[in-house]
Amino acid sequence: MRCLVFSYFSYCYDWAMAETVYEMQWDCEYCGRKKLLGLSHRFCPACGAPQNPAKRYFPAEADKILAKDHEYSGADKTCPHCKNPVSAKMKFCAQCGGPMEGAGQVKLVGEAPAPAAPEPAKGGRLWWKLVLGCFLAGAALFIFLHSYTRAVPLRVAGHSWSREIEVERFQAVSDSSWCDDKPFDAYSVSRRREVRSHRQVADGETCKTVKKDRGDGTFSESQECHTKYRSEPVYDSKCSYLVDRWRRARAEKKEGAALEPEPAWPEPSIRSGSCLGCERLGARQETYTVRFTAAGKDYSCDFSQDKWKGFPVGSKWSGAVRLIGGLVCDSLK
Ligand SMILES: [Zn+2]
Ligand SMILES: [Zn+2]
Repeated sequence: MRCLVFSYFSYCYDWAMAETVYEMQWDCEYCGRKKLLGLSHRFCPACGAPQNPAKRYFPAEADKILAKDHEYSGADKTCPHCKNPVSAKMKFCAQCGGPMEGAGQVKLVGEAPAPAAPEPAKGGRLWWKLVLGCFLAGAALFIFLHSYTRAVPLRVAGHSWSREIEVERFQAVSDSSWCDDKPFDAYSVSRRREVRSHRQVADGETCKTVKKDRGDGTFSESQECHTKYRSEPVYDSKCSYLVDRWRRARAEKKEGAALEPEPAWPEPSIRSGSCLGCERLGARQETYTVRFTAAGKDYSCDFSQDKWKGFPVGSKWSGAVRLIGGLVCDSLK
């Protein structure tokens, strides 16, 4: 690994060392002679048979022989006439003399292929299809029952309403945050150190030897190195403090069960101002509900107050009712 180190950051990159070139080895398939040299022995020195590039292999560590002063001109070509390997720089086959025009490159010796991932068991896949099928069928049935409606005559049975006001109090609230995000009005602050993030720190490197068949009876060997990293915690100050804020203290509610008397808002008694313990009115909520009956079944709908007033007790309506999910409130006529 090489690193450029500046005062603020460092940049490391992976690199490959200069490669060394060795001779491949091959075994003669005619006389059985082993560990012949890919570059020096284009023909078997024992029986004269031409080298078969498919029989080339990377030699053991102890058998490696440097290919000195060898000029690389590309992977060998297979002679289209006699199928023997021929140096890429040759215009005619050294074995049969045929022209090398249109000759293809010999196959390279690769690393062992990675084992294929095991196929998932057939039974498992079938089971999943079954579960998915049941789920889709269930969903379709639900959508059908939910969207299927029939018209039903309804009678208004009664009303109800509720109005609620939230009361907020200005009070001391305890909170915590990273100290650089602390609110300006925080008080009673205490600090502690905590892990805020992690940074990746370069921590040496892992190297492996990579062998590459060059296809002409030689192979190159180089070191490929990758930077290793370790995770290091980054500490920062965490602040715990009190801040004065408006918070929900309670809610007051008024309810009724008829159109008359008119709905009214609750009137909470509060101590107003901006002192600690002072109160103010917060969010309001109101609901207006009409109850209907149809053939012994009860339904209810929430409306705006104006619409709610337009449903006198005993009046008759027609509405769409779902098989599941009840009355469609927008369908009332
Ligand atoms: Zn031989
Ligand atoms: Zn030939």
